[in-house]
Amino acid sequence: MKMTRDSLQKLVGEYRREGRWNAVFFFTLFFGVIIGDSISTPGSEPARFFAWAFFPVMLGLFPAMLVYSLLRIRIKGLVCPRCRARLIGELGEQAIASGRCWKCGDGVFDGEK
Ligand SMILES: [Zn+2]
Repeated sequence: MKMTRDSLQKLVGEYRREGRWNAVFFFTLFFGVIIGDSISTPGSEPARFFAWAFFPVMLGLFPAMLVYSLLRIRIKGLVCPRCRARLIGELGEQAIASGRCWKCGDGVFDGEK
């Protein structure tokens, strides 16, 4: 399915904005757990919670963030209609400017060769 230049521009912008909010969310969680763990009274309810949350958050956060951002690319359809290359960030800007996929060189917009 091809798209228009406008719709790709909008999607690239949306993706970038959402990415910023996701980063804010993940870092808040990340530092929240680190700080919570270091300031809560040992043996208290919050200390138990932070100790429990520590490893899942530390080990799970970055893979989850990665998988989620990859999923968002697919959900939004930010891919080349022909070779499924990602069209985000710089690569998306490039496609918007040239009308072509950075990978296969095919036109990505409707009515453009
Ligand atoms: Zn392509």
